[in-house]
Amino acid sequence: MSPTTLFTCSSIAVLMELFPYNTRSYQKNIMHYMDESLATGTPLVLESGTGSGKTVCAVSSTISYALKNNKKIIYTTRTNAQQKQVITEIRTIKKRFPNETKNVVTVGMQGRTHMCLLAKNNPELQKGSADELARLCAEEKKKVRRGRKKGCPYFRKGVENEEAVKHALEWMRAVLPTAEELVKYCEEHTLCPYEINKLLVQDALLVVVPYIYVFDTNLRNMLLDWMGVGEEDIILVIDEAHNLPDYLRDLLSSQLSAYMLNSCLYEIERFGDPSLLARGVTLSRFVKDLNNIIFELRQRFLLGGDNKLKYVEKKDALLPPNAVVSQIAEKYSLTTQEMEKIISALIAYGEQIQTAKQKQGKLPRSYIHKLGVFLSFWMNIDDEHYIKLIVDETDGKNPRVEAYCLDPSLGANIVHRFLTSIHMSGTLSPLDEYKDSIGLPESTMLYSYPSPFPKENRRILYVKDVTTRYDEIKNYKGMIKRIQQYIAEICNTTNRNTIVFFPSFDFMNICIRDGLLKKIKRLTYIEEQRMSQHDLMDVIQRFKEREGEKNNGSVLFSVMGGRISEGMDFPADELEVAVIVGIPYPKPTARQRGLQRYYQRKFGKGWEYTVNAPTARKLLQAIGRLIRNETDRGVAILLDKRAARFKRYIKDIQAADDVIQELQSFILEGVQVYPP
Ligand code: SF4
Repeated sequence: MSPTTLFTCSSIAVLMELFPYNTRSYQKNIMHYMDESLATGTPLVLESGTGSGKTVCAVSSTISYALKNNKKIIYTTRTNAQQKQVITEIRTIKKRFPNETKNVVTVGMQGRTHMCLLAKNNPELQKGSADELARLCAEEKKKVRRGRKKGCPYFRKGVENEEAVKHALEWMRAVLPTAEELVKYCEEHTLCPYEINKLLVQDALLVVVPYIYVFDTNLRNMLLDWMGVGEEDIILVIDEAHNLPDYLRDLLSSQLSAYMLNSCLYEIERFGDPSLLARGVTLSRFVKDLNNIIFELRQRFLLGGDNKLKYVEKKDALLPPNAVVSQIAEKYSLTTQEMEKIISALIAYGEQIQTAKQKQGKLPRSYIHKLGVFLSFWMNIDDEHYIKLIVDETDGKNPRVEAYCLDPSLGANIVHRFLTSIHMSGTLSPLDEYKDSIGLPESTMLYSYPSPFPKENRRILYVKDVTTRYDEIKNYKGMIKRIQQYIAEICNTTNRNTIVFFPSFDFMNICIRDGLLKKIKRLTYIEEQRMSQHDLMDVIQRFKEREGEKNNGSVLFSVMGGRISEGMDFPADELEVAVIVGIPYPKPTARQRGLQRYYQRKFGKGWEYTVNAPTARKLLQAIGRLIRNETDRGVAILLDKRAARFKRYIKDIQAADDVIQELQSFILEGVQVYPP
């Protein structure tokens, strides 16, 4: 549905009481639907372009409603950058309406992995998971309470110096810090940011948290306990909701790798090698046999097949539901009960190791414990909603078995308990797919707004004579060369900042090996695979600043579906040309086929929901990097004739007869806006 009506009902006036900017007409519409969702408890799924101001609509509407109806808000985000954006909007509202919001407390939370200062300054602890750090923290606090000047110094200062805590809370109420600002403040004052946050959460009207605080049962219960209310009195906002289905699938899946089994062997060397069975089977023997089974499964199910082109290499294969367990049971003639006993023994031994490490002030991590938990999960999962896979992305160095969850709605049930849920994103179409995947009711309100920015500022072109389709590349050797020619010509035609999004790092490397960089006469940066976040940000900064090449712009090589195409902002002239090489269809892996079959069975829409929809979203995400506000201009060029299939999702896409000429005229039209 694409609403165009301007709503003027009186409840909108209430919701707009805390809107801090001049309202645009579509923002009134957005707030109208939010009002309806809040008043009726009907979930709302809303698509509205990046930069359209949906975050401020959600923040101001929900705060107004919560204040009047004595409710609270949990606002979930996927990344730190999104969390900062929410906090920035709340600061603006508080500044604009100081009296109305003087009692409004809001808190930006991150987990201990971001906020534990003990871990921040200790390289071993930095690697700890949320569970491991929670366990470590409990022990450190115990030591402080025993009062022997031991334990975490940040917690101790909080216990011993009430004044310092009081000042920190006053500072937070006044400043409304982001998680990073709070960590900095607490580091300077030797206080624990996580504990300080906890103290303030009970007074908070709105809490901004990562998804995990809602979708992990333990963390959610803890958060609700701190907030002092049940879900029925809380409005749930899920921002950048297009991430949620994959996020939930990952959360509900589990894996066991050869590296993990190696780590079990290191643990056995340090802590001992008990017998697991009366027959004298040792733990180390059991672990080595499991490792052999993983390699045998790789050999049997994964190797072979058509691997002629590296970038479509087979990296996973489906396993029978009883794989691993049946092989190990056969090896030792185990009954199911005996297998369960072994699993319990692994978990119990792993707990002993965790405790021993904890007492030494080390990270309470045990791979043997993880192994026991994994085997228990693997044996007991319901095969209707999961598939089992052998996966190897490392050429035999670290293969793994994986129980992969096909149905994100299994983890999303919780949203039904909240007063209402508002799901928002700039790229969520088709909205039905999102609603079905998450398991939202038929009554869910689905609304999509086109980009509010001037249409003439964006051009989306595709060329009709190239493709990255596997069969065509295989049968016509010149196809990759022709694609490279297009990339070089486009990059050499303009002096505007340009990103080339390749379908994969493998494809990018083929082009680099073929000498593409030499053909581009401009400064070119490259995002490398597995680049650290720090190094990536450095590359992006230099690309944006066009180091030493102010008048010639720069080029950046990146990949589709990665950190740049889905998460970075390039306002104004920081990016004006996006070249998308190929159509980012999901690879035809066993995982993908399993997903498609499952959606076909459940909704009768396997192809549409698991291939078309995610591909369109990836395209829109990459194109969306170009335009972030009213004055931004940009052109996207899709190097693949199959782009025509996505007209339904990308309405203004056009075939280009002469893409270079069209690019030149678009750039010329905008010279007054961005002088070269
Ligand atoms: S009290 Fe804070 S700083 Fe200390 S261990 Fe716990 S989370 Fe870390």
